[in-house]
Amino acid sequence: MLNFKNANILLLCVVTAMTLKYFSAPFSPTYFILPFFIWSLLVFYGCYRIDSGFFIKIKCKEDTEEKVMSLTFDDGPSPEHTAIILDILKVNNVKATFFCIGRNIEGNEDLLKRMHREGHTIGNHSYSHAFWFDLFSKTKMTRDLEQFDLKMRSIIGVRPKLFRPPYGVTNPNVKASIINGNYFPVGWSIRSMDTVAKDKVRLLKNVSSGFAAGEVILFHDTCEITKEILPELLALAREQGFHWKTIDQLFHTQAYV
Ligand SMILES: [Zn+2]
Repeated sequence: MLNFKNANILLLCVVTAMTLKYFSAPFSPTYFILPFFIWSLLVFYGCYRIDSGFFIKIKCKEDTEEKVMSLTFDDGPSPEHTAIILDILKVNNVKATFFCIGRNIEGNEDLLKRMHREGHTIGNHSYSHAFWFDLFSKTKMTRDLEQFDLKMRSIIGVRPKLFRPPYGVTNPNVKASIINGNYFPVGWSIRSMDTVAKDKVRLLKNVSSGFAAGEVILFHDTCEITKEILPELLALAREQGFHWKTIDQLFHTQAYV
């Protein structure tokens, strides 16, 4: 399996072989750029493909025959949208998973309590969700995740086990922070792109065309369009015989510790 460790070993072997060759039969030194370029592409792919398992294995879907899927909402709670999404889920008797941002919980503690009270699962999506989160040191990143846990525990009395990396980016420091906090890392298998979608019909079609057993759908409870398509999306899933589970139920793991 091609992961970060194996890519580094491969790079070392190729560069060593090229160096030996260079001294026995000299060639243009610019050829040495090539293995580093390929290595950089691999690392870039590993960072930005959450399902690559390049740095750490992140569960993105469940292997099951059962017609079950999981709805996830990132980046909330949002005072404009989250309550309406919770209303829609309640009417349809659907439980979802909310990967909240700690700083967005500030002032919206009641929304967090409501998610918990109504049977939804809450996961850690970092406290800051900073633009430069991926460049944080291991210590800073670990503290950021702990800050989320403390905030959540102070409101609903439990610490999350589930963690979704901000922006879906992984790297060695994200891996270390997941291990330090003993989190269960969660990705997705259907990315709705609701943060950039403009056309409701197209968004609904794009997401529903991916309906299949064990899929995990990524939405954001910070988008107007998400709450607009949600009732129809749930109706379509119901017509096709699907039901919904929270991530901890789908992946047979703990939600909280
Ligand atoms: Zn996010």
